[in-house]
Amino acid sequence: MSLRYDLHTHSNASDGVLSPRELLEKASQSGIHYLALTDHDSTQGLAEAESAVRALPDLELVPGVELSVTWIRRLIHIVGLGIDRHCPVLQSGLQILQKKRSMRAFGIAARLENLGIQDAFESAVHYAPRNNISRTHFARLLVERGRAGNLRKAFQRFLRPGGLAYVDCEWASLDQAVDWITQAGGVAVVAHPARYNLGSQKLRNLLGEFGECGGRAIEVIGSGYNPNIANSMARLAKEFNLLASVGSDFHDPENCHTKLGCLPGLPRGCKPVWDALALL
Ligand code: AMP
Ligand code: MN
Ligand code: MN
Ligand code: MN
Repeated sequence: MSLRYDLHTHSNASDGVLSPRELLEKASQSGIHYLALTDHDSTQGLAEAESAVRALPDLELVPGVELSVTWIRRLIHIVGLGIDRHCPVLQSGLQILQKKRSMRAFGIAARLENLGIQDAFESAVHYAPRNNISRTHFARLLVERGRAGNLRKAFQRFLRPGGLAYVDCEWASLDQAVDWITQAGGVAVVAHPARYNLGSQKLRNLLGEFGECGGRAIEVIGSGYNPNIANSMARLAKEFNLLASVGSDFHDPENCHTKLGCLPGLPRGCKPVWDALALL
């Protein structure tokens, strides 16, 4: 029997809907063997996840995080897998990112209030039980208030760059993010590389710089699986000598492109990232 991995998921410690415990229970029911919890800019969900996984004998937790990075003025996500959440260097980096998130959330809320959406900040916090406020929480609020038909439309009209309530933010640099993950004993992975619409040259520049900083892997199989994308990411992994990861980027059981753990295997010739993780 081949092992099933899902190495990119979210709980309500960031913009996911399920608590860490609910997420792990769902992963176990879905037949996943290794699940990474990779909340945005936070490891706050990992303690609950570690305790929940003890009651689930067939499932192993890979402690992770997904860091927000600004690279040539664009938002890039770097996943860290197999991190020690107690690492002081990582935690001080996360503290910086959390401050930026709070400031940005105030800015977004102020813009939304100007557009007639009352109590935007307090309402977004209501969706974020651990106070890690994401644009997704504002998107849920906009849908709830009837200002957008769905999350995608809320991003399109209000929250994407150029949107009515968009607030720019300078996140970590690429080398900071890779360094924080590496110092925490983790493996740095470029999340969903095809989603940035960088074009072939810029994507190659990103992967080249990422490798020079100590980055080790890219996601080859991700949400909204497409075999052409997977094959081209597999070729890039080979070209840049990077390991290959698999992650659904699961957020919400009611509203997801890719179900938890329902991912195809890696294309032939990929070196799997789990070979570099000290998995039990
Ligand atoms: P943030 O980290 O607060 O900037 O929010 C980014 C998150 O918003 C991503 O991790 C996705 O979960 C979500 N997101 C970004 N773009 C979209 C979109 N077009 N539709 C739905 N969700 C999105
Ligand atoms: Mn998200
Ligand atoms: Mn992401
Ligand atoms: Mn994600």
